[in-house]
Amino acid sequence: MTSLTQLSPDEKMFRDAVIGFARDRVAPRVASMDHHGALDKELLPDLFDLGVMGIEVPEQYGGAGSSFFNAALAVEGFATIDPSVSVLVDVQNTLVANAVIRWADDAQKERYLPKLAREWVGSYALSEAGSGSDAFALAARAEKKGDKWVLNGRKLWITNANESSLFIVFANVDPSKGYKGITAFLVERDFPGFSVGKKEDKLGIRASSTCELILEDCEVPLGNVLGEVGKGYKIAIETLNEGRIGIGAQMLGLAQGAFDYAMKYIHERKQFGQVIGNFQGVQFQYARCAVEIESARLMVYNAARLKDAGQPFIKEAAMAKLHASEVAERVASLCVEFVGGVGFTKDYPLEKFFRDAKIGKIYEGTSNMQLQTIAKLLQAEYGFKG
Ligand SMILES: Cc1cc2nc3c(=O)[nH]c(=O)nc-3n(C[C@H](O)[C@H](O)[C@H](O)COP(=O)(O)OP(=O)(O)OC[C@H]3O[C@@H](n4cnc5c(N)ncnc54)[C@H](O)[C@@H]3O)c2cc1C
Repeated sequence: MTSLTQLSPDEKMFRDAVIGFARDRVAPRVASMDHHGALDKELLPDLFDLGVMGIEVPEQYGGAGSSFFNAALAVEGFATIDPSVSVLVDVQNTLVANAVIRWADDAQKERYLPKLAREWVGSYALSEAGSGSDAFALAARAEKKGDKWVLNGRKLWITNANESSLFIVFANVDPSKGYKGITAFLVERDFPGFSVGKKEDKLGIRASSTCELILEDCEVPLGNVLGEVGKGYKIAIETLNEGRIGIGAQMLGLAQGAFDYAMKYIHERKQFGQVIGNFQGVQFQYARCAVEIESARLMVYNAARLKDAGQPFIKEAAMAKLHASEVAERVASLCVEFVGGVGFTKDYPLEKFFRDAKIGKIYEGTSNMQLQTIAKLLQAEYGFKG
């Protein structure tokens, strides 16, 4: 009998390599990257060398040929040190590479998978100013003109946009068909008519770039439709169902990182002649945090393992993301309190974990959208019509 949270020797070795790298190479840069609101690009070649930018990319294309579960482990591991680097790795693996592996034709795989595994960061561009939760109300348009598609519109909130060379862009080829006109395109950064616009100045995950994309008669070769024309909605739904597990993993790692730091602090800091970690009032609080983290880990690992096993996982993924983001917010908040006044300053990492936690309830489907998914699946299970 093994626990769901028990790792195989290979998984453990992989997780330890990620955390070791994050401690050695990312940790010294975290405060400065947060302050400047920008990723230190020196990290990128090392992330590719570590093999964490193409975790599921098959070995024949230069990737690690590993599992979705390992991608979640990497996202979790980076988030214990920096949730910004974590989301860079998350979007690259669970959304972009994932979609290319699953939906691209052979020529697209030959062109893009080796690049994603070795040198290119990718972005996933669905949201717009007028379409967030209601993602399929997107206004970007694609028209076939001669031997190319011409894209027009704007995308908003696009993670990794400053660093990315490849963008999966969703646009509608025939608005009269509603969501059945939505199509996914593989857009390279230097395609004519494509540009990256304003970068957002954010509360948290400040080192992760979040930008507008501008499509002005952007020319995309006919061969760069990902999947089928009119099937972009399916690609969006299915990749986001999986990507959600990644955000759960990010939030889990964040909670763990804050907790590890606070536990050490409260077992060194003395008040009333003893370490504050020995006061029963504090013990009960951190014991409860540990229970919450364990519950989030069980749910995230369960969803990831179900996905790898080809079992239904959508409800479990939505539950894991919802719960892990709530746990991250509660645990990070309490960890600021455990550390007292200094926890409120930028000299300690806890206020940043607290700020970073907020995004978990917003992106890749807000908490209400997760609840909606869970409720719809429950109605179907119980045989009620929604
Ligand atoms: C830092 C960051 C990074 C992001 N990265 C990406 C990215 O890489 N690619 C991408 O495509 N998008 C990205 N997004 C966009 C993100 O997915 C959206 O912000 C999110 O889906 C919510 O959409 P919205 O902001 O338009 O909020 P809205 O949809 O306007 O929602 C506002 C509020 O209304 C609630 N609400 C809306 N509809 C309902 C309903 N039917 N029932 C109950 N409540 C409802 C929501 O839960 C929310 O609380 C990112 C956003 C941020 C902030």
